[in-house]
Amino acid sequence: MSEPSYISVIIPLKLEWEPCYRLPDNIDPGNVVIGDRVKVRFANRMYSGVVSATDVSPETNASKIKDIEEIEHGLERILPQEIELWRRVADYYLCTIGEVYKAAYPVGKINLEEAHAAAVAKAAQRKEKVLDSMRQKIARLEERQSKKDALIQKAKDGTKTKAKLSEDSEKIRHEIAIAREALAKVEACPGRDADAPVGSISTDTIVLSDAQQKAYDSIQEGIRQGKPVLLHGITGSGKTEIYIKSAMHALSGGKNVLYLVPEIALSRQLEERLYEHFGERLLVFHSAETAASRRSTAEAVRNGKGYVVLGTRSSVFLPHHDLGLIIVDEEHDSSYKQDSPAPRYNGRDTALMMSAIHKCGIISGSATPSLEEQYNCACGRHVLVELTERYHRTDDSDIEIIDTKAERKKRGMRGNFSIKLIEHIRKALAEGGQVMILRSRRAWAPALQCEECGQMPKCPRCNVSMSLHKNGSDEVMACHYCGHSQTFTGKCEKCGGSLKSLGAGTQKIEEEAAALFPEARIARLDSDTAQNRSYETRTISDFSKGHIDILIGTQILTKGFDFEGLSLVAVIAADAFLGLQDFRADEKALQVLEQFRGRCGRRDRKGLFVIQTSQPDHPVYGMVGSQQAGLKSVGLLEERKDFNFPPYTRIIELAFRDENEGRAHVLSQALANCLRDSFDITGPYAPTVDRIAGQHIRIIRISLKKDRNLSSNKKALIRTVRQFEKERRYDGHITINVDPA
Ligand code: ADP
Ligand code: ZN
Repeated sequence: MSEPSYISVIIPLKLEWEPCYRLPDNIDPGNVVIGDRVKVRFANRMYSGVVSATDVSPETNASKIKDIEEIEHGLERILPQEIELWRRVADYYLCTIGEVYKAAYPVGKINLEEAHAAAVAKAAQRKEKVLDSMRQKIARLEERQSKKDALIQKAKDGTKTKAKLSEDSEKIRHEIAIAREALAKVEACPGRDADAPVGSISTDTIVLSDAQQKAYDSIQEGIRQGKPVLLHGITGSGKTEIYIKSAMHALSGGKNVLYLVPEIALSRQLEERLYEHFGERLLVFHSAETAASRRSTAEAVRNGKGYVVLGTRSSVFLPHHDLGLIIVDEEHDSSYKQDSPAPRYNGRDTALMMSAIHKCGIISGSATPSLEEQYNCACGRHVLVELTERYHRTDDSDIEIIDTKAERKKRGMRGNFSIKLIEHIRKALAEGGQVMILRSRRAWAPALQCEECGQMPKCPRCNVSMSLHKNGSDEVMACHYCGHSQTFTGKCEKCGGSLKSLGAGTQKIEEEAAALFPEARIARLDSDTAQNRSYETRTISDFSKGHIDILIGTQILTKGFDFEGLSLVAVIAADAFLGLQDFRADEKALQVLEQFRGRCGRRDRKGLFVIQTSQPDHPVYGMVGSQQAGLKSVGLLEERKDFNFPPYTRIIELAFRDENEGRAHVLSQALANCLRDSFDITGPYAPTVDRIAGQHIRIIRISLKKDRNLSSNKKALIRTVRQFEKERRYDGHITINVDPA
């Protein structure tokens, strides 16, 4: 009999080590390689593990080592690059490799054949949808052109107006020609079922402007130097076009591309645009997909050659191979960060790890780059490429700040709308434009209060005010943290007095808008409506086709959408974005406002950005527009340096969750005491919302210097925490969050 052979296995659990197993005699060790899936028993349960090492020499008594149950033949083999990425993610985010494996390969019952059939059907549908929307786009352009031509007829010869109109008409004619060409290409595109190669890739369908071409060349140069590139391009400068051309370049070199976006909703709008160029090479992936659909996309990636994956953060965990380029669109967006469960990773930073593993280019782009990326460029690790000119050469949107306090005094408010804003909206609509209205709070009213005793109804399980939702004649109070809801009686539970609503959420704004603009077609987008994915997709598509006049919603409106008819964007109660108790408050407020402003005035008409606020002198408003000239001008980075905040330091957050408040308090104090000598800590403190779903919360923040000891300090930290959990038998209550959003 031959010597027994041992392997180590990654198990989808929060396990600090990779247990060792023996290969039974009937399995030839020569047939088992790293990445194979094996069925193993651990703590009396069965798991599908991943072989992470072969030929290992067991550390414990060999007689205690169990045999694996069997090799999982039905499951795909994990690529070495995948395991390498899991290790880096686990290392960086202080979680276990098993937790990353679990996130990358969630279990679910799947019938692969059905999944494949569904994918083929979906692909055919998609082609029809794209063709349909392209034809509509051409029709819209033709209509615009005939309007311009009619105006040209009427205009006097030799006038400036006539010259401008002719120029516009010429531009539209050109756009129509491009759109027709794209349509022909998609019509000719083979369906997914055809086994034929997906067609050759040419990069000449995209004609970049001079400024874009310069940026593109600098990007390629940065990639050649082996450095990550940050593309800072103002909104409407045509970053997407540059991404597409860069992707084509990678594909033409026989490589694959990963294109990351922060939001599913954004991927939907980009899908059509990318499909026009990549046809069936395009694979779309996001976390809301069914297990079967995920699995079938993963298979397409595994076996794919010359694919482009468009996806949200979890698509970093697909079985990527032969990657030539990673694009991180809207890199500043905090939706890239996963808060729960572990791994609490940031898609942008994980993409950077991937680019190192795959030795491929990476472009992160934004109109409002994160300070992390700005810092990386400032210290020369990343290459900064700036694009400070809009593609359509529209002037910057005007900004108008309306002081709601002053207006109220002058009786210049109608509910939550100032008369000034109402006039602007009327004018925009009369000129055939569209309007978006941003309000940071959803629901009808974000809070309620008793008129008699002043009580504000709170969620029984969370330390937050209940908000009021109206669905038709139904009125419910709901908690936005745990989902608890109850019928709204209008009476205070304490004293029976009547409850009045405090503030206005998106629902109420929608109601007011409907009364103010009875002719307008109005819709709303927020996380209540997003529950219904098809409603969300339809609304975005209807708005982009001009079938909706006013769109009201929360932050989702500020994401990188491209709506051609949008001419006015307005924020109601912008104060809600300011003064959050967080060192990132100004950065975030600026990003939201600047991104929102960038949604309008993207074609031939100049846009208007209206801010309603009670603090018109807040410095953040002064910064809006200042990044147009380049990043240096804003000065947020210097401020962080002076105060020793990230990105100059690294923050790790320990969160305690415990139904027993006393225990959360005492144990967080105790751990803080263990840490205080070796680390720079803040807390423990109770966060603003200090109870969620019955769990009391305490936070300890650790600030680490970014020096050569960083990695050993992180290891020391995790050791202390694990030791503490063990000694106090406090497992499962403390979560560790590296780079909290
Ligand atoms: P950004 O992503 O930087 O905000 P986009 O890539 O969405 O900007 O470009 C803004 C608009 O300009 C889009 O409608 C896009 O179609 C158009 N555009 C940009 N670059 C080009 C180009 N090279 N050729 C044709 N249209 C372009
Ligand atoms: Zn609650």
